Amino acid sequence: MEHHHEARRLQVNGIVQGVGFRPFVYQLALRLGLKGEVANTSSGVSIHIEGPADRLRAFEADLAGKAPPLAHIVEVISRPEIIKSFSDFRITASRGGAAMATLISPDAAVCADCLREMFDPADRRYRYPFINCTNCGPRYTIIDDIPYDRPKTSMRHFTMCAACQAEYDDPLDRRFHAQPNACPVCGPRVGLWDARRREMGPGDPIAAAAELIRQGQIVAVKGLGGFHLAADALNAAAVARLRQRKLREEKPFAVMSPDLDAIRAYAVVEPDDETLLRSIQRPIVLLRKNETGRLAEEVAPRNPCVGAMLPYTPLHHLLLAHGFAALVMTSGNLSEEPIAIDNDDAFDRLAGIADYFLVHDRDIYLRSDDSVVRRAAGETRFLRRSRGYVPVPVFLKHALPPILACGAELKSTVCITKGDQAFISQHIGDLENLSTYEFFQKTVGHLQRILGVRPEVIACDLHPDYLSTRWADEQEAIPKIRVQHHHAHIVSGMAEHRLEGAVIGVACDGTGYGPDGTVWGGEVLVADAEGFERAAHLACVPMPGSAAAIKEPWRMAVSYLNDAFGADLWGLDLLVLRAAGPDKVRLMLEMAAKRLNSPLTSSLGRLFDGVAAIAGLRSRVTYEGQAAMELEMAAAEETESVYDYAWEEGAPCRILPAPIIRGVAADVGKGLGVPAISAKFHNTLVRMFSDLCESIRRQCGLGRVVLSGGVFQNARLLTGLIPALAARGFEVYSHRQVPANDGGIALGQALIAAESIAHKA
Ligand code: ZN
Ligand code: ZN
Ligand code: FE
Repeated sequence: MEHHHEARRLQVNGIVQGVGFRPFVYQLALRLGLKGEVANTSSGVSIHIEGPADRLRAFEADLAGKAPPLAHIVEVISRPEIIKSFSDFRITASRGGAAMATLISPDAAVCADCLREMFDPADRRYRYPFINCTNCGPRYTIIDDIPYDRPKTSMRHFTMCAACQAEYDDPLDRRFHAQPNACPVCGPRVGLWDARRREMGPGDPIAAAAELIRQGQIVAVKGLGGFHLAADALNAAAVARLRQRKLREEKPFAVMSPDLDAIRAYAVVEPDDETLLRSIQRPIVLLRKNETGRLAEEVAPRNPCVGAMLPYTPLHHLLLAHGFAALVMTSGNLSEEPIAIDNDDAFDRLAGIADYFLVHDRDIYLRSDDSVVRRAAGETRFLRRSRGYVPVPVFLKHALPPILACGAELKSTVCITKGDQAFISQHIGDLENLSTYEFFQKTVGHLQRILGVRPEVIACDLHPDYLSTRWADEQEAIPKIRVQHHHAHIVSGMAEHRLEGAVIGVACDGTGYGPDGTVWGGEVLVADAEGFERAAHLACVPMPGSAAAIKEPWRMAVSYLNDAFGADLWGLDLLVLRAAGPDKVRLMLEMAAKRLNSPLTSSLGRLFDGVAAIAGLRSRVTYEGQAAMELEMAAAEETESVYDYAWEEGAPCRILPAPIIRGVAADVGKGLGVPAISAKFHNTLVRMFSDLCESIRRQCGLGRVVLSGGVFQNARLLTGLIPALAARGFEVYSHRQVPANDGGIALGQALIAAESIAHKA
């Protein structure tokens, strides 16, 4: 018996334009024999569908369940409609304002269909490095303005040939409305150039580049979000030369391998890592090196981990197919500068680093570094959220007025709110030089343009000297709200979990401006979006030499030893003190005592540095967070023991570092190794913060704990602290959508600013 006919109107919101959603709907309707129409609207896609009731239900189920890979459905609003007796199903013209308010897709790795075509000698795109379709390819990085149409992308310089145009116009084709559609006849081309900007040739430029890399040369390769510097990761001399030229001493390089088996040859890949590596976002995944790995030590010196990724552009696949097990693929920049995206810029800035340049003529409008993730405590954690993930918004609990949040200084990102969505920019970098500052400004302008948002309020950090704060101050026409750094960290964590009301926030990092003039960073706050109280913090010690104390953890070691032992410090037999020598130690003590260029800090990041130095791990770092990271990595697997810990009750409580430092120094004296000391130190933090949260709960009655700040990139700490708090009955929230580090802080700033204007109104 035929079911009776019905009609429904479905409004689909999310990333559903420019991702092949309408053709998908069209084919789904055809397959189920349903009639109606589909159109783009200002907020997504609208569908009128009619036919037998059971098939309508099947349609709705498949709509969400079988959507194309780049679609990101936020909601489907379904309501009954009057039957209009359509004779067929059709894709109709976009409604007014369509595409203006919709979400733009992130860049996506080349899909399996395109790869199959690219390696098929009979295909017209055989070995064509710019093959793409509606399910894959560049998006965010080639868009200049909205609506997302070819004339608003860097493909505007290429006119489609008849064959490409026919695909573009055919709703049943995989390239229907694929804006970057191209082929060897009509699209971008790749070429190989030497460092003096002479084009090499003739012959296949990719094969020639591969041969040069095999010979140990460094080749700058233009990618999706910027240039990479490529070198053979098995060739120690080549990788060492790259380090030297890039002025990068020890910070690990990421590597790219052709497939999972190649990665398994040097790293341990768990099933969750595999899922991440293969995802269309294709991030760099932090993996543990295995015993047999043949990667050059220079790739990630003294580091038990390595960041690996799979190829994500057709060009990568063609290059890697020349038999490489792993290529170093590091950002095309000098240390500290933003990644090069422009051909001219690349030749200018990378000429001293790269021997050759594999470039093409499809412009990148917005740079976007590779994203970096790791698995920790059962979840994917962002160390850097950028290419592949941006601009997917964080969906908030409530709509906010348009706010621009400027972030902090290191690992800078900005955030713009639009309704109930918060858009966090790609990774901008450390805002410490002019070129990064220019990139910051460009990103702010670009995000505003493609979102069609004019901010009413600007949120920034309390630190008066951050370039992001100074930029905010210069925007005279717009009201500013300054937000305390660690408050922003905690509210960022609340935002992604849609928490309201007060929480206990454990905010631990290296540096954040405290309203009392000290450098904060080991904080337990009782906070909501409106404000916070400092419930506890690490007791302050001086940082002798200020910024120098961050670069040279031995200075922090002296400071903590002085705090713990006083004059008895001179009786300690510790490598860190012997290596520095009595004169330098005395100088540090004098600086600290007279408070000469020695700000006080409650930073947990500095305590990590100090412990690393006392344990003999390292006295000097070459990049931010190095000592803390190495201390984490060194930790022994199994040990239950802890150091003594204590805090002074008060408002706020003062956590005393001295008992921990005395314990570490005693263990070093007993000849205990770094792995055991590190494990005990981590255990201590887990136990201490659990006790502290419990003590705070007794006073304030709050049962939710948010963990945020750069220290919580530490997998060992997360893995220990989350279950420890849960075991005591806390609900524990940690970052999953944005980084725990300062790359996630703009989100919290935006929410705090919104709360602040809501209260003024
Ligand atoms: Zn494709
Ligand atoms: Zn063509
Ligand atoms: Fe921070």
